[in-house]
Amino acid sequence: MTDVFFMERDPYAPIRHCYPVSKVLYHGKSPYQEIMVVESPHFGKVLILDGVAQCDERFEFIYHEFMAHVPLYAHPNPQDVLIIGGGDGGVLREVLKHPEVKRAVLVDIDKEVIEVSKKFLPTMACSFDDPRAIVINEDGYKYIQDYEGEFDVIIVDSTDPVGFAHVLTTEEFFKYVYRALKEDGIYVGQTESIHYHVEIVRRVQKALRKVFPIVDLYTAVIPGYAGYWWTMSIASKKYPVREPSREVTVSTKLYSADMHRYAFLPESFYQRILNGDYSF
Ligand code: SAM
Repeated sequence: MTDVFFMERDPYAPIRHCYPVSKVLYHGKSPYQEIMVVESPHFGKVLILDGVAQCDERFEFIYHEFMAHVPLYAHPNPQDVLIIGGGDGGVLREVLKHPEVKRAVLVDIDKEVIEVSKKFLPTMACSFDDPRAIVINEDGYKYIQDYEGEFDVIIVDSTDPVGFAHVLTTEEFFKYVYRALKEDGIYVGQTESIHYHVEIVRRVQKALRKVFPIVDLYTAVIPGYAGYWWTMSIASKKYPVREPSREVTVSTKLYSADMHRYAFLPESFYQRILNGDYSF
């Protein structure tokens, strides 16, 4: 065991996670954020942006599988997928497991996150050379404004909603997402935890409901994220999202057809979150 620790600076969490560190593998500053990769006993390598742990080698599969496979299996034939953020490559890896996908465009504002992930996190950043992957370094808010009826699924895998990531949780952005989706498209975005961030969850859900006819919330327990009980907000133009629409065939560690159903909150609890009578 080591005596050196990294203490997280999560702008929204009322608690600080503290990771034992056996080695600092990278520490730099891009034009957008401070980037760090540390080696931690138990977790393996941990990617840290602006003091907040984004993913660790041991448990990253949970977040990445649920971000990718819930929307992709809710859709009957996802061919064109847009990922905004996701520079560590974990969501891209999962998206490209679907043979239906012909094109996965990843738009991360910060190319240095991608370069650092390729070098230090090769089990996550393992799909950037796939011929179906297209990588663009631009602000996702700007990028999406140029598209109409282009994508089957849009996944927003961004950092916490502060600074340049905040705009990705606004009604204005969701209007662009709606327009960029095909007529039966599906959107998903990470919306923080139920217990520490219920106001953010409610705000995003309300904004999505102003734009999309079908909106829902599903969750996964992520050991490295403050509050653990993490939410994903999903919105669909046409298809119901609580069930996979086709047989689950991709190889995963946790996601499956029954875990897809299980991930969605019971209707009564979901309504309490929306109505604001689950607050503390
Ligand atoms: N899984 C992580 C989590 O939930 O905290 C997020 C991982 S991924 C590394 C987040 C990425 O979002 C970062 O690389 C950051 O550069 C990118 N990002 C944040 N805001 C963005 C924006 N407006 N446009 C494009 N990429 C953005």
